[in-house]
Amino acid sequence: MISQRNLFLQHVAQTSPDPMGLEIVQASGIYLTDRNRKRYIDLISGISVSNLGHRHPQVIRAIQKQLKKYMHVMVYGEMVQSPQVNLAAALAKVLPVQLSDVYFVNSGSEAVEGAMKLAKRYTGRYEIISCTSGYHGSTQGALSIMGDEFFRNAFRPLLPGIKHIIFNDHESLANIGCRTACVIVEPVQGEAGAVPADPAWLAALRKKCSDNGVLLVFDEIQTGYGRTGKLFAFEHYGIVPDILLLAKGFGGGLPLGAFISSHEIMQSLTHNPVLGHITTFGGHPVCCASGLATLQVLRKSNLVQEVDMKEQLFRSLLVHPAIRGIYGKGLLLSLDFETEELNRKIISACIRNGVITDWFLFSGKRMRIAPPLIISHDQIRKACRLILRSVEECS
Ligand code: PMP
Repeated sequence: MISQRNLFLQHVAQTSPDPMGLEIVQASGIYLTDRNRKRYIDLISGISVSNLGHRHPQVIRAIQKQLKKYMHVMVYGEMVQSPQVNLAAALAKVLPVQLSDVYFVNSGSEAVEGAMKLAKRYTGRYEIISCTSGYHGSTQGALSIMGDEFFRNAFRPLLPGIKHIIFNDHESLANIGCRTACVIVEPVQGEAGAVPADPAWLAALRKKCSDNGVLLVFDEIQTGYGRTGKLFAFEHYGIVPDILLLAKGFGGGLPLGAFISSHEIMQSLTHNPVLGHITTFGGHPVCCASGLATLQVLRKSNLVQEVDMKEQLFRSLLVHPAIRGIYGKGLLLSLDFETEELNRKIISACIRNGVITDWFLFSGKRMRIAPPLIISHDQIRKACRLILRSVEECS
């Protein structure tokens, strides 16, 4: 019989010549189990998705409850679907007043696309600015604003009217002006290797945008839902964006994204033309039920407040001459090694030793540490022991 692995290689479209290729048969809490019953600590959460761990019981219950009522019934925006309404209302309660209207989509890239269209439509301007080393997704628009030429170049021509400014660079802000519709930025750049924005720079960016009628868009697709130690990373900075983007952890393990803005701004998608942005599955009722249950667990537990202590524990334990630094914020951390080759070797050793980790798209010599927020202190100690053993084996 052809193995699952061979069928995977033959029929599931590949994204690289060397996929991780683990055959996972079960996932629960912070653990993944493969077909040989080997258990792995998940230190990357399916890339910042499983913030409550895999198959959190409250999330499963909410999904099952919704499954008994209805799944897809109608394209987004036509019918009153209570899972969407309840999640949007719950978000409005935890967000600043101006972030009151939620447009549900299916993924992070789609939230980015929606935000770009919304900013163009609301401001009547065409220029979109993003940052060097920013990652916003893989669709044409999101790719066009990606802050890395290597990954963009093969797909030209891209969207016109895109400018890149240097992340955390004050002088670059001079590029923002009266033609700019929006600036899109991650408060903590994920794929750059977990690089937080400098608070003074982000404040200057906010001011520059406000002074010039430019919408400020925060891509919190990776940083949202508690990952950095606040429900949303913008809370660390005391700065409110005009548009907030969510996905990944937002759906509690199911596909869900959103762009969120004020009622006034969001109204511009309703006319001239009508149906300014539409999606069939956006805000799928089962995904919204899952997203709401996730938000409720995050709000009722101390998981978000405990992120800071867990970050400090990782930082105190991961000390080794080969580790040149630990970067990031909360449980979006990176270990910096001397070379990409060494990092790749250590990542493979970690996987052999039962810890799943990964590198960053724009920072090959950094190793990702972004576990489910439910990880306990004992589990952190165990994961760190296994990482240090792997580092020892390779250095
Ligand atoms: N923005 C950020 C900051 C991301 O990390 C990602 C995904 N890695 C995206 C956008 C795109 O999300 P998706 O893969 O769901 O399209």
